[in-house]
Amino acid sequence: MPFNCETCKDKGAIVDHIDDNGLAVYKRCLCATEKLFKNKLGLALFAATKLQKSGLEEFVDKNVFLRGSVEAFYAHLRYVVIYHGLNFYYQLVSDKQLLDVYLGKDPDIESIRHYLGPKLLVLQLGGNGYKNVALPGIVTEMVQSRLFENKPIWVFNTKELASDDLCYSETLSQIIDDYFQSIAIGKASKSASSKQASAPSFDVEQPKQLKSASKTANDIAADIAKNLK
Ligand SMILES: [Zn+2]
Repeated sequence: MPFNCETCKDKGAIVDHIDDNGLAVYKRCLCATEKLFKNKLGLALFAATKLQKSGLEEFVDKNVFLRGSVEAFYAHLRYVVIYHGLNFYYQLVSDKQLLDVYLGKDPDIESIRHYLGPKLLVLQLGGNGYKNVALPGIVTEMVQSRLFENKPIWVFNTKELASDDLCYSETLSQIIDDYFQSIAIGKASKSASSKQASAPSFDVEQPKQLKSASKTANDIAADIAKNLK
């Protein structure tokens, strides 16, 4: 039987060096690292375009509204996850998955509070193909909950959020306007001729509420609570 990896003979580790006691010290084989990243990225990101640079890796502790093509979004996210390494605790979830959890259709996840766990939550909008009256409320609640807990969230949509989006709510739109940096991501085209081709067009718009003074998480939570009344 041929091995998948000739380097480690599918053991996942290779001898790094021999220590002072004459014992072999192992290190992880490249094939094992690749497998770990594959699990971490998930299928969509693993298959995405490999970027040489992104720039979005600097924004993992910020609330960001991203817009652009899904392909470009996946390519940038792929870069960001690999950049921050295997211990980077992020999760990518679509609005459709949130809805499924809410409706009890997901056997593995009990409540949307599950998504308060990750260091960075990446919420992809536009995944739900049909109108559901609960959807805007669930998405809004998810975003609010992350802000309340002072945990960063990225929200992705292919375009500016507008009333024709199935997850649209006025509250959501207001929160994004007020508290999120808005970033338009450029095309993630593979181009051998230009090293710059993969960089996002970084038109970062500062959120309204953060322009003047930097607000604390408590201020933001209080603001949101006020708006809800
Ligand atoms: Zn190997």
